Amino acid sequence: MVITKNRDCRVCGSPDPITLHNIWYRGMYGQLCTACVLAHHAASFCPICFDVYEETKLPPPHLRVMCLRCPAVAHISCVYSLPSSSSSSSTRFHCPQCSIPNFTFFNLVGSAVQNGNVITEDLAKQLVASAKIASMSLHKAAAIARENAEKRAKEAVMARKKAIEALDKVSFLILKEAEEDSRSSSNL
Ligand SMILES: [Zn+2]
Ligand SMILES: [Zn+2]
Ligand SMILES: [Zn+2]
Repeated sequence: MVITKNRDCRVCGSPDPITLHNIWYRGMYGQLCTACVLAHHAASFCPICFDVYEETKLPPPHLRVMCLRCPAVAHISCVYSLPSSSSSSSTRFHCPQCSIPNFTFFNLVGSAVQNGNVITEDLAKQLVASAKIASMSLHKAAAIARENAEKRAKEAVMARKKAIEALDKVSFLILKEAEEDSRSSSNL
């Protein structure tokens, strides 16, 4: 199978065609791998349970905790459920991306080594979360495109109206001029 250049992840260049998502990212359509979708949308999902915040609606303030270093937002209950969090309080939360050295989302290699090539529940959740985020981005882009098209249609109507008004004005002036001409010539 030949993998062409445009099937690579736009951010990291990964040529993995299985986990690439069509996404609207930084004002452009493109393809991002699962790891990059998650890494670049830290505020869109809980980094522990991989629940996606639909339409970027975050959990209410008393149920969420923000990473001190990046825009990641986690459920407080998820942070407390972590085995390592017994000593650290939820007010000093660092998300996995910011606290684990060499961390990458959707770490197929590390996981395959540990689990004998099995897609773990954790990996499956990450794949689903990134697919949701990508689809949300496309919906948003479609909404923006629709809005722009409506705006352009409105602008076209306004431009036409203005043109007609200008024409009216011109023909009014011509008429007026002609009238004045005939009046001044009859006065002679
Ligand atoms: Zn990537
Ligand atoms: Zn969670
Ligand atoms: Zn973080």
